[in-house]
Amino acid sequence: MKKNVDPERMCCACRQKKPKSQLWRIVSGPEGARLDPTGKADGRGCYVCRQPDCIRKLRRRKTGLRQLVVSSLREICDELLRKAGEP
Ligand SMILES: [Zn+2]
Repeated sequence: MKKNVDPERMCCACRQKKPKSQLWRIVSGPEGARLDPTGKADGRGCYVCRQPDCIRKLRRRKTGLRQLVVSSLREICDELLRKAGEP
């Protein structure tokens, strides 16, 4: 039987636990941070709600995400905001 697993992860902007399907995963790689659309890429990752509020909050952060490169994090957040339909 196929299990419908949707484990909870913590959003690193609002610190609420949500099902993974409601979060974006951002993973750090050799070239900086990037979006992980599959949620399965190797590397240290963080999660953020698929909501403009949380994406903006994450974009403003300068600390607490040592494993992620801040400049690429900004680009990713901009991309996510576009996906969320925000300018
Ligand atoms: Zn959040």
